[in-house]
Amino acid sequence: MKKSGSIRSKREEGSSVIIARQDHGISRKLMSPNALRVLYRLKDNGFVGYLVGGCVRDLLLGREPKDFDVVTNATPGEIKRIFRNCRLIGRRFRLAHIHFLDEIIEVATFRSQASNEPEPEPEEGNGTEQRQRHPRMLKDEEGMILRDNVYGTPEEDALRRDFTVNALSYNIADFSIIDYVGGLADLNAGIIRIIGDPVVRFQEDPVRMLRAVRFAAQLGFTIEEGTLKALVAAADTIVRAAPPRLYDEMLKLLLSGEGDKCYDLLRHTGLFAALFPHFSAWLDAESEGFPHTRFGEMLAYVDSRIQQGDKISQPLLLALLFGEYLDEKAENFRRQGAPWQQSVYAALGEFMGEVCPIVLITNRVGFALRDIIAQQTRLKKVPGRRPEAFIARHDFNDIIAYCRITRGDQKEVARQLDWWEARAQQQEPLPPPADSSEETEAPQRKRRRRRRRRPKADKKLG
Ligand code: ATP
Ligand code: MG
Repeated sequence: MKKSGSIRSKREEGSSVIIARQDHGISRKLMSPNALRVLYRLKDNGFVGYLVGGCVRDLLLGREPKDFDVVTNATPGEIKRIFRNCRLIGRRFRLAHIHFLDEIIEVATFRSQASNEPEPEPEEGNGTEQRQRHPRMLKDEEGMILRDNVYGTPEEDALRRDFTVNALSYNIADFSIIDYVGGLADLNAGIIRIIGDPVVRFQEDPVRMLRAVRFAAQLGFTIEEGTLKALVAAADTIVRAAPPRLYDEMLKLLLSGEGDKCYDLLRHTGLFAALFPHFSAWLDAESEGFPHTRFGEMLAYVDSRIQQGDKISQPLLLALLFGEYLDEKAENFRRQGAPWQQSVYAALGEFMGEVCPIVLITNRVGFALRDIIAQQTRLKKVPGRRPEAFIARHDFNDIIAYCRITRGDQKEVARQLDWWEARAQQQEPLPPPADSSEETEAPQRKRRRRRRRRPKADKKLG
């Protein structure tokens, strides 16, 4: 990985540092051609256009950016006028999406940092009259930002970003990098440092704590001391963030390819216990004298798959991470006399009830997770009734993968899985494994089957 070690700051201007084109390693060849088109078009129309945020950070680190974000001094209305392929989104803060065949470039107007100070009266004739129409910044009584809709200068826009390494901009006018917050020095030193007062910034948006963890793990950086101290002190307040947002952010952590490192940091900072109190307590406790080790093993497994470029579906990810916990819950219901299927359904309901008030797993993903666990017993029936219908299930691959990863080291299980996979590849149906104790295919019955109604429990997740 190429680091930005060779970068020298060229010219100081107020509090900003400008690194000229010849002094940084970013080449336009590494940028999305569509992002460049957007930047040039803005420039040709007399506006300022910068690449900002994660893409500048990643380009300097020699990593491939996930997306390219653009900021400008053009208002959304002005952006719409110069791009035919533009759609404005967001009701509160309007953003422009410039649509290309295979990519959307997000273009935002410079925003100012959240503050409770009143905004100055807009001057006439310089475009600020449009700014009046937007609702202002709003914080709740605990300092969390509810609305953040004030246009600002490029510097203000940099200051409202989360970490110094995420606040660098690339100016298309002269191909320089602009650094208002010491982001380059932190990038060189491998430091995640929040911009401004860490206590206030985590109060404004607790999700920044999870972002700090993710960037530290993903980039192999350390969290700066003051930032870390404030994070640990504020860890419990993570539950104030919106549950759907926490789920999205957790997914990013777990699917970052560094989930194991993220988990370590989450645990040490107290974030994990705050996010998953029940599960965390269960992990800490032993089960019949044995520690719960599968969660850690699964994190490492998921990381290795992601690092190889594989994709893992959300239900499979959750099954791998929480499957052992769910099995134990299901076993408890079974001991109380519930049949297997129902005990899995009840376990899932209980799990969703614990997790969803804080980290919202959607019902769609919850049902899919439940099915992966509940269908495990079907795999033992080789071939059982109507194997083709089972193979045709949309989640067949996930059901197989879950079994292979968690129990595939057992010979008998591996043989059953081989059989299912061979059958699924539409090879000649294989004879069932010789010592399979399970039922064999029943002779085709002519009788038409009635459709079974879905059990009511389906509707009662979470
Ligand atoms: P990734 O590689 O995950 O895309 P990123 O840094 O680009 O990382 P995004 O979520 O795409 O992250 O956000 C783009 C930029 O917006 C960030 O680099 C940061 O400058 C700013 N940003 C995002 N979320 C926040 C936040 N919660 N608070 C302040 N600034 C934020
Ligand atoms: Mg990004």
